[in-house]
Amino acid sequence: MNVKPAGLVAKPFLVPILAVVGLLLAGCSPQGDDSRFKGLPDGERPAILLITLDTTRADRLGIESSAVKTPHFNKLADGGLYFTQAYSTTPTTLPSHTSMMTGLYPMDHKIRENGRRVDAQLDLLASRLQTLGYRTAAFVSGFPLAEQFGLARGFDKYDDDLAGGANERSATLTTNAALEYLALEETADFLWVHYFDAHAPYEPPEPFLSLYKDDLYSGELAYMDSEVGRLLSAFEARFAGQPRKVIVVGDHGEGLGDHGEALHGNLLYQGTMRVPLIIAGDDIAPGSVARSVSIRQVFDTVLEWAGVNGERSLLGENSEPVLAEALKPYLQYGWQPQFMAVLDGIKMIQSGDIEVFDVQADPGETNNLLGSIDLAPELQGALSAYGSRALDALNSQAEKPETLSQKTVERLASLGYVGTSGQPILRDAAPSPKDMVHIYGDLDIGSGYFTNGNYDAAIEVFSRILQIDPYNFMAAMRLAVGYSVTDRAAQAQEFFERARSINPASVDLRHYHAMHYLRNRQSALAEPLFESVLAEMPDRLPALEGLLSIYARRGDDEKVMQTLEKLVKVKASPGPDLLRLGKMRMAKGDTKAAISAFEQASQILDERFRQNLELGVLYLADRQFANAAASLDKVTRFDPGYPMALFKRAQVSVLLKEADSEARVREAWKRGDDTTRRLIVSEKLFRGIDYRSN
Ligand SMILES: [Zn+2]
Repeated sequence: MNVKPAGLVAKPFLVPILAVVGLLLAGCSPQGDDSRFKGLPDGERPAILLITLDTTRADRLGIESSAVKTPHFNKLADGGLYFTQAYSTTPTTLPSHTSMMTGLYPMDHKIRENGRRVDAQLDLLASRLQTLGYRTAAFVSGFPLAEQFGLARGFDKYDDDLAGGANERSATLTTNAALEYLALEETADFLWVHYFDAHAPYEPPEPFLSLYKDDLYSGELAYMDSEVGRLLSAFEARFAGQPRKVIVVGDHGEGLGDHGEALHGNLLYQGTMRVPLIIAGDDIAPGSVARSVSIRQVFDTVLEWAGVNGERSLLGENSEPVLAEALKPYLQYGWQPQFMAVLDGIKMIQSGDIEVFDVQADPGETNNLLGSIDLAPELQGALSAYGSRALDALNSQAEKPETLSQKTVERLASLGYVGTSGQPILRDAAPSPKDMVHIYGDLDIGSGYFTNGNYDAAIEVFSRILQIDPYNFMAAMRLAVGYSVTDRAAQAQEFFERARSINPASVDLRHYHAMHYLRNRQSALAEPLFESVLAEMPDRLPALEGLLSIYARRGDDEKVMQTLEKLVKVKASPGPDLLRLGKMRMAKGDTKAAISAFEQASQILDERFRQNLELGVLYLADRQFANAAASLDKVTRFDPGYPMALFKRAQVSVLLKEADSEARVREAWKRGDDTTRRLIVSEKLFRGIDYRSN
């Protein structure tokens, strides 16, 4: 590789201090750290481009590998600072990006897996930049970073348009979108662009497909490089003559078979944890930095460029141990939790037992140095402190897993992500994830079958896994569900009980068990389980729907209505449920609640809303005459309720003292049916009106 002379050139950062800004911004920082706000005046703020590269191994870019041509990355690294020991905080997309956007490790920002929602209280980079005067825009390319997961906060524009429900978009499409936006008069001066191409499956377009036919992963990197080149040129052209900064960083790498891991997320070795990191800009002297750094330092670095002192900026000399975690095998399979710390080229991995590697001399991590070298006390201290704090946080975290729609779960699963909820029991005898690589393949295959609804094949694979790993929670739960949906109730019950013995706290398990009972018409067993699921996760839609069907079957109208009230708050398009609720409330004589339900239904359904007669009658009963008139006017002559609508409209007209009220009563009589004519005859409001004449 291309090692440049000088080490880090630390520049004192010149920050004009605007004393008043701190005051003006008081309350803008939810973490109350206002003293750090020292924005730059207009014109001195650099335009900042943050490029994040999904699933990109540092040793596969052309900067380190002559086998891969990445001229744009190389040029940027040559002209800027290249960090040879940069580490992800966790090998999963949403949590690692959340670290970059918050400056926090996963134990502090609490996003452990994809499919969670970033806490609305967290201080996000884009929001901070907005308060410092930046316009902000993001272009992301993979579903794990879609707006719904919470990183969009603080962006004036957040483009996660993956075109027709796809799970990713190509670098070309993302770059096109960013370039189109950069060409606007009112564009952003903080731009985050995320590329997802290197994520499996590896399918680079031509000519990269042919050029790298034996190494399609690298082909994706070369392709990404070509698009990054377009983006960099456009950024430079757009902000020509102004200060500019660029930061390029990987969110995590890819195993590519190292230590038995094909993809990422399960282990903490260099292939998935060491990422490319380049910073470049007018006043950044070229060089390389061998100090270990964390991608979470992106946060402080960008803020420093924006004029705020960042104690952990990559431009500074901060040399605390770099930490990371990989908790997926713990959360999903009940294996040992894994943590890692690196300092001065020495890396410790705690995964039940402890491994120690000199990652500079032995980047393949083949020689475990535990016991043969002295370890820095601060390295050991940082590792054990992180491990215990992270587990405490998980235990105490009243962590309410995000309620995801079935569609969202399926999209994440199709990318290989399967979330769980509930804390597994930490068993002393739990295997270390590094010793279980022989079943990663089966876990992926079984999950694939399961997600695609191929339950017989999934049952075969998960039975095999459970033989090898008898406490694998996910395998037991999936066997239970697999047997349940294929109508083998006895086996299903056996595996539900087995899964419960492994992880009694799992909300998911209770939920699926309740669904199983419901499927078998054992409502009395399903009901308390659904209720306990909702006590922990009040928004869990399928549990609400399960209870609704149980209450309806039992004819418990009160509970049906209560559950519908909750359900309509959770569902994306609850139009039909609101109609059902409105009709039930109306039948019970609860006018105001019925009006509220119909009003919401009308907003959602728009012209498909057909209950204008009911709503008009309700408004009339509630003496909201103008609203009643407006609703009744929407009932058309093709509606079977038209005569009734005319009669009610005439009542409203008299009450409103409209000029044409007598004509309306005559019209109601003329078009009336037997029922409405009887009503007209006996209506006191109409006394003295000669409605029978023309
Ligand atoms: Zn990723």
